[in-house]
Amino acid sequence: MRVFYGNIAAQDMEKIIKKALNTRILDKEEIIHLLSFGDNRLYSAADKTRKEFKGNSVHLRALIEFTNICQRNCFYCGLRCDNKNIERYRLSINEILECAKKAKELGYKTVVLQGGEDAFFDAEKICNIIKEIKKLDLILTLSFGEKDYDEYKAYKKAGADRYLLRIETTDKSLYKSLHPNMNFDNRVNCLYNIKSLGFETGTGSLVGLPNQTIESLAEDILFFKKLDADMVGIGPFIPHPDTPLAYVNKNNFDLSLKVMAATRLLLPDINIPATTAMETLKKEGRIIALESGANVIMPNITIEKYKAKYAIYPNKTSLNGANYNTLLDLQKKIYNIGRTISKSNGFRNETL
Ligand code: SAH
Ligand code: SF4
Repeated sequence: MRVFYGNIAAQDMEKIIKKALNTRILDKEEIIHLLSFGDNRLYSAADKTRKEFKGNSVHLRALIEFTNICQRNCFYCGLRCDNKNIERYRLSINEILECAKKAKELGYKTVVLQGGEDAFFDAEKICNIIKEIKKLDLILTLSFGEKDYDEYKAYKKAGADRYLLRIETTDKSLYKSLHPNMNFDNRVNCLYNIKSLGFETGTGSLVGLPNQTIESLAEDILFFKKLDADMVGIGPFIPHPDTPLAYVNKNNFDLSLKVMAATRLLLPDINIPATTAMETLKKEGRIIALESGANVIMPNITIEKYKAKYAIYPNKTSLNGANYNTLLDLQKKIYNIGRTISKSNGFRNETL
């Protein structure tokens, strides 16, 4: 009985992958099938798609984790405001600029400013930081949560290029249960505002949240497509000991890889990072992701003394992107899988 079922699944898998490669459109049932039974055929179809649409170069984006202070209380995250077991920090504006200059010196084209929702950094401060970083002739990505339309607009006017805001999950009741005092529709609105203001728009999901279904993960992928996201980051959920989800015990690496690969099949030309969370769950997880649809890596260039304090989840194996030898090692690994490091700005629409 099992074998028989397996055979049927195997045939369907070939058919669905072929359809995805030809049309870049799948319905929900077909995506569910990929996520349930996806194997090497899924990963190699995603890798082939990445090669065809994005080429062999890997974009490095330098990550600056500029504050771990957050007014939100997301159930999964170590930075949630109810976590009193964490030493909080925020970088001074000078420290942020010091990191950006270092990134420029090391040859990065993009810096990513990521942080908690920290009211200290009001629109005026952020716009000043944006203007200073843009003077260094860097591409700038922002990622610090939900703001109103006018604030996003001010960031754009000041020169920011991209904004990352994961939807986390499109399952509304799951979203509600994990995000006290937050509103799913508002998050969706933020993403459409970001898109309409002309930012390259990044979103993504956490994979393996308690009570999350395969159906809802398929819906997440359909959401990325509907939004026409320019970047999608898929991260396995990793339980943090000082959160209400501390005792969830599951390794979500394989499922995350499937969601990522299926996303590549359906949004062939977007930028997809091999996430730090994937590396944390599996040695060389980042390289596996690069060979299953990803084309971006985000090395961490935050000042060393702050790094460990940005503990959204435990044992974060972020790549020391400010260390010359670590970067050389990374470069070697990338060459070893037949890829190169990009010298371009890495926008979604750039020609190969
Ligand atoms: N505060 C901003 C950005 C910083 S958090 C925001 O929330 O948008 C960046 C990402 O970390 C979140 O989008 C979330 O998907 C991820 N994250 C938080 N806790 C995590 C955990 N326990 N495991 C894996 N990823 C996590
Ligand atoms: Fe704050 Fe982002 Fe963590 Fe939520 S996920 S608590 S918004 S840092």
